Amino acid sequence: MSIKTSGLHHVTAIGGDPQRNADFYLRTLGLRLVKTTVNFDDPGTYHLYYGDSSGKPGSLMTFFPWPDAPSGRRGTGQATTTSFSVPEASIGWWKRHLAASGVETGEIRNADDEDTLTFRDPDGLQLALVAHPQGDPRDPWDTQLVPAEHAIRGLHSVTLSVNKEDATAGMLTDGLGLGFAHQESNRLRFAAGDGGPGALVDVLVTPDAPRGLVAAGTVHHVAWRAPDEETQKTWREELVDKGVHVTSILDRQYFRSIYFREPGGTLLEVATDEPGFAVDEPLLELGRALKLPPWLEPRREEIEHMLPKLNLPTENNPELS
Ligand code: ZN
Repeated sequence: MSIKTSGLHHVTAIGGDPQRNADFYLRTLGLRLVKTTVNFDDPGTYHLYYGDSSGKPGSLMTFFPWPDAPSGRRGTGQATTTSFSVPEASIGWWKRHLAASGVETGEIRNADDEDTLTFRDPDGLQLALVAHPQGDPRDPWDTQLVPAEHAIRGLHSVTLSVNKEDATAGMLTDGLGLGFAHQESNRLRFAAGDGGPGALVDVLVTPDAPRGLVAAGTVHHVAWRAPDEETQKTWREELVDKGVHVTSILDRQYFRSIYFREPGGTLLEVATDEPGFAVDEPLLELGRALKLPPWLEPRREEIEHMLPKLNLPTENNPELS
Protein backbone atom coordinates (compact mmCIF):
# COMPACT_ATOMS: atom_id res chain seq x y z
CA MET A 1 0.00 0.00 0.00
CA SER A 2 1.32 3.44 -0.72
CA ILE A 3 0.65 6.66 1.10
CA LYS A 4 -2.56 8.43 0.16
CA THR A 5 -4.07 10.88 2.62
CA SER A 6 -7.71 11.83 2.06
CA GLY A 7 -7.17 15.43 3.17
CA LEU A 8 -6.42 17.78 6.04
CA HIS A 9 -6.95 16.50 9.59
CA HIS A 10 -6.21 19.66 11.59
CA VAL A 11 -4.14 22.82 11.70
CA THR A 12 -2.43 23.77 14.96
CA ALA A 13 -1.36 27.34 15.65
CA ILE A 14 0.10 29.32 18.52
CA GLY A 15 -2.09 31.89 20.18
CA GLY A 16 -1.72 34.50 22.88
CA ASP A 17 -4.36 35.04 25.58
CA PRO A 18 -6.59 31.90 25.77
CA GLN A 19 -9.80 33.83 26.58
CA ARG A 20 -9.34 36.15 23.60
CA ASN A 21 -8.55 33.13 21.43
CA ALA A 22 -11.66 31.23 22.57
CA ASP A 23 -13.88 34.31 22.16
CA PHE A 24 -12.73 34.79 18.59
CA TYR A 25 -13.02 31.20 17.37
CA LEU A 26 -16.20 30.32 19.31
CA ARG A 27 -18.15 33.57 19.15
CA THR A 28 -16.90 35.43 16.08
CA LEU A 29 -16.19 32.40 13.87
CA GLY A 30 -18.90 30.21 15.45
CA LEU A 31 -16.83 27.03 15.71
CA ARG A 32 -17.53 24.46 18.41
CA LEU A 33 -15.07 23.85 21.23
CA VAL A 34 -14.69 20.10 20.77
CA LYS A 35 -11.99 19.51 23.38
CA THR A 36 -10.50 21.44 26.27
CA THR A 37 -7.23 19.84 27.22
CA VAL A 38 -3.58 20.75 27.76
CA ASN A 39 -0.48 20.66 25.62
CA PHE A 40 0.71 17.14 26.47
CA ASP A 41 4.34 18.30 26.11
CA ASP A 42 3.74 21.39 28.29
CA PRO A 43 0.73 20.69 30.56
CA GLY A 44 0.66 24.20 32.07
CA THR A 45 -0.73 25.40 28.71
CA TYR A 46 -4.14 24.75 27.21
CA HIS A 47 -4.67 22.88 24.00
CA LEU A 48 -8.01 24.07 22.62
CA TYR A 49 -9.62 22.20 19.73
CA TYR A 50 -12.22 23.99 17.61
CA GLY A 51 -14.26 22.19 14.96
CA ASP A 52 -17.64 21.33 13.53
CA SER A 53 -20.61 19.86 15.40
CA SER A 54 -18.82 16.59 16.18
CA GLY A 55 -15.16 17.55 15.74
CA LYS A 56 -14.63 15.54 12.59
CA PRO A 57 -11.16 15.33 11.05
CA GLY A 58 -10.82 18.07 8.48
CA SER A 59 -12.86 20.54 10.53
CA LEU A 60 -10.27 21.07 13.25
CA MET A 61 -8.31 24.18 14.13
CA THR A 62 -6.35 23.84 17.35
CA PHE A 63 -4.36 26.25 19.50
CA PHE A 64 -1.66 26.33 22.10
CA PRO A 65 -2.53 29.69 23.66
CA TRP A 66 0.31 31.12 25.74
CA PRO A 67 -0.80 34.28 27.58
CA ASP A 68 2.62 35.93 27.24
CA ALA A 69 3.76 34.40 23.97
CA PRO A 70 6.00 36.64 21.86
CA SER A 71 4.71 37.39 18.37
CA GLY A 72 5.89 35.27 15.50
CA ARG A 73 6.64 36.40 11.97
CA ARG A 74 4.93 35.14 8.83
CA GLY A 75 7.35 33.94 6.20
CA THR A 76 8.61 30.99 4.24
CA GLY A 77 8.85 27.60 5.88
CA GLN A 78 5.36 28.04 7.32
CA ALA A 79 1.70 27.55 6.58
CA THR A 80 1.00 31.25 6.08
CA THR A 81 -2.75 31.15 5.46
CA THR A 82 -5.37 28.82 6.92
CA SER A 83 -8.63 28.82 4.97
CA PHE A 84 -12.07 27.69 6.08
CA SER A 85 -14.91 26.59 3.83
CA VAL A 86 -18.23 28.49 3.87
CA PRO A 87 -21.35 28.21 1.69
CA GLU A 88 -21.16 30.09 -1.58
CA ALA A 89 -24.13 32.32 -0.75
CA SER A 90 -22.71 33.26 2.67
CA ILE A 91 -19.51 35.11 1.83
CA GLY A 92 -21.26 38.50 1.84
CA TRP A 93 -22.91 37.67 5.18
CA TRP A 94 -19.44 36.90 6.60
CA LYS A 95 -18.00 40.20 5.41
CA ARG A 96 -20.78 42.05 7.24
CA HIS A 97 -20.58 39.79 10.30
CA LEU A 98 -16.81 40.24 10.64
CA ALA A 99 -17.12 44.02 10.19
CA ALA A 100 -19.86 44.10 12.88
CA SER A 101 -17.51 42.09 15.13
CA GLY A 102 -14.72 44.65 14.66
CA VAL A 103 -12.62 42.40 12.40
CA GLU A 104 -11.01 44.11 9.44
CA THR A 105 -11.25 42.14 6.20
CA GLY A 106 -9.99 42.47 2.66
CA GLU A 107 -12.34 42.70 -0.31
CA ILE A 108 -14.00 39.51 -1.57
CA ARG A 109 -11.72 38.21 -4.33
CA ASN A 110 -12.64 35.64 -6.95
CA ALA A 111 -10.08 33.22 -8.37
CA ASP A 112 -10.58 29.70 -9.77
CA ASP A 113 -14.33 30.18 -9.26
CA GLU A 114 -13.76 30.52 -5.52
CA ASP A 115 -14.69 33.61 -3.51
CA THR A 116 -12.11 34.40 -0.83
CA LEU A 117 -12.27 36.78 2.12
CA THR A 118 -9.08 37.29 4.13
CA PHE A 119 -8.69 38.57 7.69
CA ARG A 120 -6.59 37.97 10.80
CA ASP A 121 -7.31 36.57 14.21
CA PRO A 122 -6.55 38.70 17.34
CA ASP A 123 -2.94 37.42 17.38
CA GLY A 124 -2.41 38.28 13.73
CA LEU A 125 -2.85 34.75 12.35
CA GLN A 126 -3.74 35.00 8.67
CA LEU A 127 -7.10 33.35 7.93
CA ALA A 128 -9.45 33.19 4.97
CA LEU A 129 -13.02 32.13 4.29
CA VAL A 130 -13.44 30.44 0.93
CA ALA A 131 -16.66 29.60 -0.89
CA HIS A 132 -16.04 26.71 -3.25
CA PRO A 133 -18.53 26.24 -6.13
CA GLN A 134 -18.57 22.47 -5.53
CA GLY A 135 -20.47 23.11 -2.27
CA ASP A 136 -19.58 21.55 1.06
CA PRO A 137 -22.01 19.08 2.64
CA ARG A 138 -20.15 18.85 5.97
CA ASP A 139 -22.07 19.30 9.19
CA PRO A 140 -21.57 22.74 10.77
CA TRP A 141 -22.08 23.95 14.33
CA ASP A 142 -25.04 26.22 14.94
CA THR A 143 -24.72 29.23 17.24
CA GLN A 144 -26.76 32.34 17.92
CA LEU A 145 -24.16 34.61 16.35
CA VAL A 146 -23.32 32.30 13.43
CA PRO A 147 -26.36 30.26 12.33
CA ALA A 148 -25.75 26.89 10.64
CA GLU A 149 -26.92 28.33 7.32
CA HIS A 150 -23.76 30.47 7.10
CA ALA A 151 -21.44 28.54 9.40
CA ILE A 152 -17.94 27.33 8.62
CA ARG A 153 -18.07 23.79 7.19
CA GLY A 154 -14.50 22.90 8.06
CA LEU A 155 -11.03 23.58 6.75
CA HIS A 156 -10.78 24.50 3.08
CA SER A 157 -7.01 24.56 2.53
CA VAL A 158 -3.69 25.79 3.80
CA THR A 159 -1.06 27.80 1.98
CA LEU A 160 2.54 26.71 2.47
CA SER A 161 5.05 29.46 1.71
CA VAL A 162 8.39 28.29 0.35
CA ASN A 163 11.48 29.75 -1.31
CA LYS A 164 11.49 27.01 -3.95
CA GLU A 165 8.86 24.48 -4.83
CA ASP A 166 10.49 21.30 -6.13
CA ALA A 167 11.27 19.45 -2.91
CA THR A 168 8.03 20.56 -1.23
CA ALA A 169 6.01 19.42 -4.23
CA GLY A 170 7.85 16.09 -4.08
CA MET A 171 6.94 15.65 -0.43
CA LEU A 172 3.26 16.45 -1.06
CA THR A 173 3.00 14.01 -3.98
CA ASP A 174 5.38 11.16 -2.97
CA GLY A 175 5.21 11.65 0.79
CA LEU A 176 1.46 12.27 1.22
CA GLY A 177 -0.04 11.05 -2.05
CA LEU A 178 -1.51 14.38 -3.19
CA GLY A 179 -1.92 15.18 -6.87
CA PHE A 180 -0.85 18.37 -8.63
CA ALA A 181 -4.03 20.27 -9.57
CA HIS A 182 -2.98 23.49 -11.30
CA GLN A 183 -0.70 26.51 -11.19
CA GLU A 184 -1.61 30.19 -11.19
CA SER A 185 1.55 32.35 -11.45
CA ASN A 186 3.62 31.54 -8.33
CA ARG A 187 0.85 29.52 -6.62
CA LEU A 188 0.68 25.74 -7.14
CA ARG A 189 -2.36 23.84 -5.95
CA PHE A 190 -2.27 20.21 -4.84
CA ALA A 191 -5.28 18.09 -3.97
CA ALA A 192 -5.86 14.92 -1.99
CA GLY A 193 -8.32 12.37 -3.35
CA ASP A 194 -10.93 14.10 -5.49
CA GLY A 195 -9.95 17.51 -4.12
CA GLY A 196 -12.60 19.87 -2.85
CA PRO A 197 -12.76 21.76 0.46
CA GLY A 198 -10.59 20.19 3.16
CA ALA A 199 -8.39 18.32 0.69
CA LEU A 200 -6.40 21.22 -0.78
CA VAL A 201 -3.00 22.79 -0.24
CA ASP A 202 -1.49 25.74 -2.09
CA VAL A 203 2.26 26.16 -2.35
CA LEU A 204 3.19 29.82 -2.66
CA VAL A 205 6.68 30.28 -4.12
CA THR A 206 8.49 33.47 -3.12
CA PRO A 207 12.23 32.93 -3.75
CA ASP A 208 13.45 36.01 -1.89
CA ALA A 209 10.95 36.19 0.98
CA PRO A 210 12.43 35.92 4.49
CA ARG A 211 11.94 32.87 6.68
CA GLY A 212 9.06 32.93 9.12
CA LEU A 213 9.41 32.63 12.85
CA VAL A 214 6.97 30.30 14.61
CA ALA A 215 5.45 31.97 17.71
CA ALA A 216 2.09 33.62 18.53
CA GLY A 217 0.01 34.34 15.45
CA THR A 218 1.62 31.66 13.30
CA VAL A 219 0.84 28.05 12.41
CA HIS A 220 2.82 25.42 14.29
CA HIS A 221 2.00 22.44 12.07
CA VAL A 222 -0.42 21.04 9.51
CA ALA A 223 -1.86 17.55 10.02
CA TRP A 224 -3.10 15.17 7.31
CA ARG A 225 -5.51 12.29 7.70
CA ALA A 226 -4.72 8.60 8.00
CA PRO A 227 -7.76 6.34 8.42
CA ASP A 228 -6.40 4.17 11.24
CA GLU A 229 -3.31 3.16 13.21
CA GLU A 230 -2.41 0.24 10.99
CA THR A 231 -2.35 2.42 7.88
CA GLN A 232 -0.36 5.08 9.73
CA LYS A 233 2.22 2.48 10.73
CA THR A 234 2.63 1.37 7.09
CA TRP A 235 2.90 4.97 5.89
CA ARG A 236 5.50 5.70 8.56
CA GLU A 237 7.64 2.79 7.37
CA GLU A 238 7.32 4.01 3.79
CA LEU A 239 8.40 7.53 4.79
CA VAL A 240 11.40 6.11 6.66
CA ASP A 241 12.31 4.09 3.54
CA LYS A 242 12.18 7.31 1.52
CA GLY A 243 14.73 8.84 3.90
CA VAL A 244 12.26 11.16 5.69
CA HIS A 245 13.04 11.82 9.37
CA VAL A 246 9.77 10.83 11.02
CA THR A 247 9.03 10.76 14.75
CA SER A 248 7.81 7.59 16.41
CA ILE A 249 4.03 7.18 16.71
CA LEU A 250 2.77 9.42 19.55
CA ASP A 251 -0.45 8.95 21.49
CA ARG A 252 -2.41 12.21 21.31
CA GLN A 253 -5.42 10.62 23.05
CA TYR A 254 -7.88 11.64 20.29
CA PHE A 255 -5.63 10.40 17.48
CA ARG A 256 -2.17 8.93 16.97
CA SER A 257 0.44 11.17 15.39
CA ILE A 258 3.69 11.15 13.49
CA TYR A 259 5.55 14.32 12.59
CA PHE A 260 8.07 15.23 9.93
CA ARG A 261 9.20 18.40 8.21
CA GLU A 262 8.64 19.07 4.52
CA PRO A 263 11.81 20.29 2.80
CA GLY A 264 10.48 23.88 2.58
CA GLY A 265 10.42 24.02 6.39
CA THR A 266 6.80 23.50 7.51
CA LEU A 267 6.19 20.88 10.19
CA LEU A 268 3.70 18.27 8.98
CA GLU A 269 1.83 15.59 10.89
CA VAL A 270 -0.12 12.51 9.89
CA ALA A 271 -2.95 11.94 12.39
CA THR A 272 -5.41 9.05 12.55
CA ASP A 273 -9.17 9.55 12.25
CA GLU A 274 -9.56 7.21 15.23
CA PRO A 275 -10.50 7.28 18.04
CA GLY A 276 -11.87 10.86 17.87
CA PHE A 277 -13.18 13.27 20.49
CA ALA A 278 -15.98 11.17 21.95
CA VAL A 279 -13.41 8.79 23.43
CA ASP A 280 -13.42 10.47 26.86
CA GLU A 281 -16.71 12.44 27.05
CA PRO A 282 -20.16 12.26 25.39
CA LEU A 283 -20.59 14.03 22.06
CA LEU A 284 -23.15 16.42 23.59
CA GLU A 285 -20.69 17.58 26.23
CA LEU A 286 -17.56 18.02 24.12
CA GLY A 287 -15.23 20.75 25.33
CA ARG A 288 -17.06 21.71 28.54
CA ALA A 289 -14.72 20.06 31.03
CA LEU A 290 -10.94 19.97 31.18
CA LYS A 291 -9.88 16.55 29.92
CA LEU A 292 -6.46 15.11 30.69
CA PRO A 293 -4.85 11.97 29.30
CA PRO A 294 -4.45 9.12 31.83
CA TRP A 295 -0.76 9.85 32.34
CA LEU A 296 -1.48 13.48 33.40
CA GLU A 297 -4.62 12.73 35.47
CA PRO A 298 -2.57 12.28 38.71
CA ARG A 299 -1.40 15.91 38.27
CA ARG A 300 -4.91 17.33 37.71
CA GLU A 301 -5.00 19.58 40.76
CA GLU A 302 -1.63 21.14 39.98
CA ILE A 303 -2.51 21.57 36.28
CA GLU A 304 -5.92 23.15 36.99
CA HIS A 305 -4.20 25.58 39.33
CA MET A 306 -1.72 26.62 36.61
CA LEU A 307 -4.29 27.16 33.84
CA PRO A 308 -6.07 30.52 33.53
CA LYS A 309 -9.87 30.35 33.90
CA LEU A 310 -11.89 30.33 30.67
CA ASN A 311 -15.40 31.71 30.22
CA LEU A 312 -17.07 29.83 27.41
CA PRO A 313 -20.07 30.86 25.30
CA THR A 314 -23.35 29.30 26.41
CA GLU A 315 -23.47 26.87 23.45
CA ASN A 316 -20.34 25.28 24.81
CA ASN A 317 -21.16 25.57 28.46
CA PRO A 318 -24.86 25.91 29.38
CA GLU A 319 -23.99 25.94 33.08
CA LEU A 320 -22.36 29.34 32.65
CA SER A 321 -25.40 30.93 31.01
ZN1 ZN B 1 -1.28 18.19 15.50
